[in-house]
Amino acid sequence: MRIVLLGPPGAGKGSVAALIKDRYALLHISTGDILREEIRKESPLAKEIKSYIERGALVPDEVITKMVDQKLTKDLGVTEGFMLDGYPRNDSQAKELDAILKKIDSSLDFVLNMEASLPLILSRISGRRICKKCGAVYHMTNKPPKAAGVCDACSGPLYQRSDDNEETIKNRMSVYNSSTAPILEYYRKQGKLVTFDGDKETNVLFEEFVKFLNENKRFNKNQNASRN
Ligand code: AMP
Repeated sequence: MRIVLLGPPGAGKGSVAALIKDRYALLHISTGDILREEIRKESPLAKEIKSYIERGALVPDEVITKMVDQKLTKDLGVTEGFMLDGYPRNDSQAKELDAILKKIDSSLDFVLNMEASLPLILSRISGRRICKKCGAVYHMTNKPPKAAGVCDACSGPLYQRSDDNEETIKNRMSVYNSSTAPILEYYRKQGKLVTFDGDKETNVLFEEFVKFLNENKRFNKNQNASRN
């Protein structure tokens, strides 16, 4: 299975990705996670990356595409599938991705697009907390940890992403609308785009994904999802 997860910030990509990754053996490539790891490791690019993330702007294409290229050409097992989460985010990245996939004799099966309403997006992002140690995602009201500030799974400390503040969220939404949303058309034309209702709870959405993926794996044709 070779898929891309698309959708605005707060549509639930990360939460669903964690469940998909557990269910299917595939390489999960989250560009946001890779960039945050570069910052954490204080790599040579950390300062530059941080300045973009904190403004809610896109990190330059050449930086991000190199990272994705490396993951797909070096880390991907021969029979393993992959799930791209947070990439591509604009037209040129979508084309770069096609070029990388061509190079490794691969292609995308589906682009799973999540749409969510703005009030829900804002409440999800502002209440989001993440475990510093294992990356598990919580929400202050929808999915609080058992003990305040502590991860249920690994007891690591929870933190709020520095770009999960009101000002940066506005920028991230506007970048999504101007740069990322237009690539939906690119994939729609290829017949690969499948849209899901990101307002639904993570588990419900995940079950819809599983149903769609299983049906399409078995019969290799679209049945119940709204492919558009
Ligand atoms: P995310 O974790 O996917 O919400 O990404 C967090 C931030 O990382 C974004 O707001 C961007 O600043 C940066 N980022 C993640 N993926 C990309 C990408 N494909 N292209 C450029 N910047 C990215």
